[in-house]
Amino acid sequence: MNETTLYLHIPYCKQACHYCDFHFSTHRSTESAVLEAMHAEMAMRSLQMPWNGAAINSLYFGGGTPSFLAVTDLSRLIDEARSLFSFSPSIEITLEANPDDITPEKLEAWHSIGITRLSIGLQSFNNLELQSMNRAHDASHSVQCLEWIADGPIQNYSVDFMYGMPGSTVESWKRQLDQLATYLPPHLSCYALTVEEKTVLYHDVRSGKTTLPSDEVIVAQFEALRAWASPQGYTHYELSNFAQPDKYSRHNSHYWSGQSYLGIGPGAHSFDGEKRWWNISNNTLYAQGAKVPSERLTLIDLLNERLMVRLRTAKGFLWEGDVPVGLDHSLLKRVKRNVQTAEAKGLVTCTDKGFAIPPDRWMQSDAIISELFLSPKES
Ligand code: SF4
Repeated sequence: MNETTLYLHIPYCKQACHYCDFHFSTHRSTESAVLEAMHAEMAMRSLQMPWNGAAINSLYFGGGTPSFLAVTDLSRLIDEARSLFSFSPSIEITLEANPDDITPEKLEAWHSIGITRLSIGLQSFNNLELQSMNRAHDASHSVQCLEWIADGPIQNYSVDFMYGMPGSTVESWKRQLDQLATYLPPHLSCYALTVEEKTVLYHDVRSGKTTLPSDEVIVAQFEALRAWASPQGYTHYELSNFAQPDKYSRHNSHYWSGQSYLGIGPGAHSFDGEKRWWNISNNTLYAQGAKVPSERLTLIDLLNERLMVRLRTAKGFLWEGDVPVGLDHSLLKRVKRNVQTAEAKGLVTCTDKGFAIPPDRWMQSDAIISELFLSPKES
């Protein structure tokens, strides 16, 4: 039986973080209508290939802030998904949770409804950084939630952490990593703060109210992270992701492998192996059943997407398995020529099986990957 993943997008947050451009709302008036529409969407998609008959090995609650949802609502979504889809016996059910939502009682309740893994939006142990990003928690929550998790029933978890924060230096970042070493989460997602248009951060940076560290400092923070992670037992398996043995994120790994994924809820994206579609990023219109645009990917689109996700991973791109079936031989030759040129410049390393970007160049991966892309005009 094929394996696949299910993503449920919970589009509500307590407050708006200044850097965030995900789809969320701080108003919950649409919540019950959105949840009903999500149940209906799951029922409809469960009849569709490849999800009809595939085993779901990862159910992931993302957002927004899924930990903001009542436990009874989370439980109902899990039960409904279990009745509509085939859950693999070893399914991983992950809940994104913010530190201020975590209590010992909540941990017990989430465990009792089948949550097996948490992804904690911790971001920092530094109060000034948390305040400057308008996070809803403070540094004491960051520490407290890790202590509660250590004593709680859900031992498999990931921590989201951010470098490149305003006012941060290489030294202040190293101090944060030292603090994290006390807990050594099974999995770490460390992202460089990025400035997205239409966010408060974007306006604050443009107006000079907020100053970010220089590119050199951000690269040095990334290098400090890599140097810290390996002796702590982490494998750096993707640009922003680090895992203790056997603690890789199933949801993300599946997504990077280029296989199908099903997203339910406002703003969620799906891919069935050939076609991609995306739900409207508007809670009211989603609940009213807004039209769902879609596009069929060409073999060149598929190839470029696989280059984009695979080359940010340690495994890299494999000639056997990652080349879309049916890609014209002359196009494949063109990709191989591009790869040879990149290898000569030291941008990728090649083996008989495929090629990869060396981890110390992952910070430049966007630029390197774009040199390998095939243009749609080449078809
Ligand atoms: S809690 Fe997460 S989704 Fe919500 S605003 Fe903050 S970063 Fe965005």
